[in-house]
Amino acid sequence: MIPGLSMLFDDDRPRKLVGIARLAASSDVLEAKRAVEYLELETRRFIGRGSGRMRSIWTLNPYRGCEFGCKYCYARYAHEFMELRDPELFERKIYAKRFDANLFRDEVKRLKRGASIWIGTATDPYQPAERRFEITRRILEILAAEATLDIGITTKSDLAARDAELLSHIARKNLIRVHLTITTLDEALARLIEPRAPRPGLRLAAVQKLTSAGIPVSVLAHPVMPLINDSEPSLDAVCRAAVQNGASSFSAAPLFLKPCAQQVFFPFLAERFPHLLRRYRERYQEHAYLRGHYPKMIEERVDKIRARHGLAERKAPEWPIADDQLDLFQSAG
Ligand code: SF4
Repeated sequence: MIPGLSMLFDDDRPRKLVGIARLAASSDVLEAKRAVEYLELETRRFIGRGSGRMRSIWTLNPYRGCEFGCKYCYARYAHEFMELRDPELFERKIYAKRFDANLFRDEVKRLKRGASIWIGTATDPYQPAERRFEITRRILEILAAEATLDIGITTKSDLAARDAELLSHIARKNLIRVHLTITTLDEALARLIEPRAPRPGLRLAAVQKLTSAGIPVSVLAHPVMPLINDSEPSLDAVCRAAVQNGASSFSAAPLFLKPCAQQVFFPFLAERFPHLLRRYRERYQEHAYLRGHYPKMIEERVDKIRARHGLAERKAPEWPIADDQLDLFQSAG
């Protein structure tokens, strides 16, 4: 043994850190990269049937959980079905449904001509997991062999533009529409309320790329959050940018806040918009929907904005919202 070596290995006295090592050890954590786990979920069937007034719609959600982590997300509820009750787990435990192309093709073959099939009614089909697992892409490749389907896709991600060519191919024999959500053009606000979703500018670029490929795109400014993104200039800016990038419809509806979403949304308000917390609590405590004058006022505001930008009075096929989406989620495998 080289003299002195045992002391180097055995000496466990705390060493005094100097220079950059001392600075590094005393640094404050600005942001820790959150661990996200991807898991594979066995799935008996991919396509589910809607319920209630959405009974005629078929739904498809390739992932459970969503890393985008929107503060208002009501789909957190779906993780509770799996006994994952901490609402944060919805953003950190992402389940990719096991995809079997042959089984899925059989499911599609059983759909009637003209069937409406909506992708992403509960969670985002173009969330980060899609870059790795490409389940949405594989689903679309199979749908591309079909004809006469009425397909809708809802997302908040510019990754949808990756599939522009494929969607355009599908559009030759089917009806297809992409619904892209843009709640605000204010990038700082978007970062607060939709922390890991692509920034609004990227989403607009996706609108542009999709519409250039001949895909009809609706821009949704859902949810409209009172005193956060509900001003006429804010909604007008989203609509104007949507039209400038080729969108053919625009809609917006007030925030819907189930108790599971309140668990995340109220602490978020307390931290970022403390002056609004009491009013939100009072209005959403009893009901998940806002009542009274406000919804009507937003509807009129959106109608006025839509007319100002030359869009048809009502948008093309309505996207199911709120309670219906939860029902749809439960029914979809
Ligand atoms: S993108 Fe949709 S599913 Fe994902 S967190 Fe946001 S609201 Fe929820």
